[in-house]
Amino acid sequence: MSGSTSLPPRAESRGCPPSRPDRRQRRSERIRRTRRRLRSWYARHARDLPWRRTRDPWAVWVSEVMLQQTQVATVVPYFERFMKRFADVPALARAPLDDVLKCWEGLGYYGRARNLHKAAKVVVDAGAIASIAFGCDEPVLDGNVTRVLCRVFRVRTAPKETATQKTLWSLARDLMPRGRAGEFNQALMDLGATVCTSRRPACPRCPLRGVCLARARGEETSLPVRTPRRPVPHWDVAVAVIRKRGRILIARRKPEGLLGGLWEFPGGKRRRNESLETCVVREVREELGLEVRIRRALVTARHAYTHFRVTLHAFECDHVSGRPRPLAADAWTWVRPDDLDDYAFPGGSRKIIDALRSASTPPAASRRRK
Ligand code: SF4
Repeated sequence: MSGSTSLPPRAESRGCPPSRPDRRQRRSERIRRTRRRLRSWYARHARDLPWRRTRDPWAVWVSEVMLQQTQVATVVPYFERFMKRFADVPALARAPLDDVLKCWEGLGYYGRARNLHKAAKVVVDAGAIASIAFGCDEPVLDGNVTRVLCRVFRVRTAPKETATQKTLWSLARDLMPRGRAGEFNQALMDLGATVCTSRRPACPRCPLRGVCLARARGEETSLPVRTPRRPVPHWDVAVAVIRKRGRILIARRKPEGLLGGLWEFPGGKRRRNESLETCVVREVREELGLEVRIRRALVTARHAYTHFRVTLHAFECDHVSGRPRPLAADAWTWVRPDDLDDYAFPGGSRKIIDALRSASTPPAASRRRK
């Protein structure tokens, strides 16, 4: 386990390029040693995670879907709540989508919940599910595994490129010990999550430090090669808080597309050169066929989603005319303020609800005087 075992001598160091058999031999040797060291490390350091305490394919499926783009620590409480509420596939299939989204609220990437609910063939990471749940020899290539492989084997092209993907899949497949894929995949994922982390890889305590090419060349933090980030768009969104007999009007977004199936206050994106006031009146008309008049500005909330940011401007509005019709929405309902928590809202709308609540709650001192 100490990195003392030396690799076969490098042909380049003697002044001539390595021959093909040499390169193949070195690759196989590195694969063999990586596999052995990783397995021995995992036997001592495997993380205790709720989905690892079972072989139930349903639990494995849910965990793999939730873990897409989301960190383990964030997923754990959601997973436990979700499994308690939907103990098996039929339980989820029977539930209304609203309940599923409510359980998912805050975890983001709501398409995952919708697809899971449909029980369609959305197996987000078929390899992990097959290997962990059914013991199949299928490799996994999530973000953590990609990072480890790029470093250990010094892959110097962007992981998203097709050719790099091919290389990484081939490495992951060659590394996998036959019949032990599930455990091995989890070991690789754990190593990436706890030791070979993105910004500060803990090389001195890494079981692969003796075989890792990035470590040998001091390139551990420059690999994997990063693809430049695109600027995150920002939108101003104006929404209406319309009250009637103590209830507030909310609308459900159409199921397909961004934040599909979630509830929100009616409204939408401000157009170029449009005032927020004009925007909210127009949006409510287009979305629900209602005419409203602005009474006052209520609150402004900023929220960052993964691929965009919004500033939400909420206006209290009076209903002037018309009956709600779901023109650019999936459904609408009038709801008591206390019942808003029964509906799944995106993070931005949730901030408006919190702000409305704190605005209507008298300060503690004045409550005490009453
Ligand atoms: S030695 Fe460092 S860079 Fe290489 S796999 Fe281990 S933690 Fe990652």
